[in-house]
Amino acid sequence: MTLLSQDAGKITGIAKGAKRSRKRFGAALELFCHIRLDYRERRGSDLAFLERAVILRPWSGLVSSLERYVAATHIVEVADKMSAEREVGSDLYDVVVAALERLERAEPCAATLRIFELAVLAVSGYGPDFSVCVGCSSEFQAFDRGARLHVAGGGLLCSQCAGPEASGLLLGPDSVDCLHRLTGLVAVGLPNETRDTFCGTSLFSVDEHLEIDSARHRVASELRLAVAALIEPHLRSPLRSLDLMSGI
Ligand SMILES: [Zn+2]
Repeated sequence: MTLLSQDAGKITGIAKGAKRSRKRFGAALELFCHIRLDYRERRGSDLAFLERAVILRPWSGLVSSLERYVAATHIVEVADKMSAEREVGSDLYDVVVAALERLERAEPCAATLRIFELAVLAVSGYGPDFSVCVGCSSEFQAFDRGARLHVAGGGLLCSQCAGPEASGLLLGPDSVDCLHRLTGLVAVGLPNETRDTFCGTSLFSVDEHLEIDSARHRVASELRLAVAALIEPHLRSPLRSLDLMSGI
């Protein structure tokens, strides 16, 4: 099984003897469980041999509705496919824990998932910049008439730079505005020059204005496609959860 740890990054572990293990580990090795884990390593092998696991939080809310289950599956899948084994650093772990905690408390909304994805991009060193045009460096106001997503540039092209022949996802001005505000929240929540600790609570303090409600289907859909396109080049394999997620 694959585990994401605070100290050692992503690890692959095995619990020897499935029957005995079930008795020994109880529900601790269930999907999404937040645990404290003892494991042993063998010289020359990356495998972790699981010895003992204690449940810190069962996060049973994550399987209490199909929507939460699908969203939580997406979160762990993105974390898995964006990371390499034993990549040390706790930022990704912190983002995943904060996102699952948020889902444990509330039904998933589009803003929660987009903030999670943008935060994973940021802690992986691929954080997009929506504040200026990647073509002409014009300020944010240049997107008054919408913008084109520029995946390779990690940002947006204003309508002048994009031109009529441009490819790339077209985003309306309200979608651009929303992306800009979501990346602002991510910047506040993640460690930065002035604060070196992670603040999951502020990362997901999605206020009313940021809720991408169902009345704004177009914005929600544009944001989902835009952030998925930004993530896609950095994944080890395509996300299976994306199709399931189209309703959120
Ligand atoms: Zn431009």
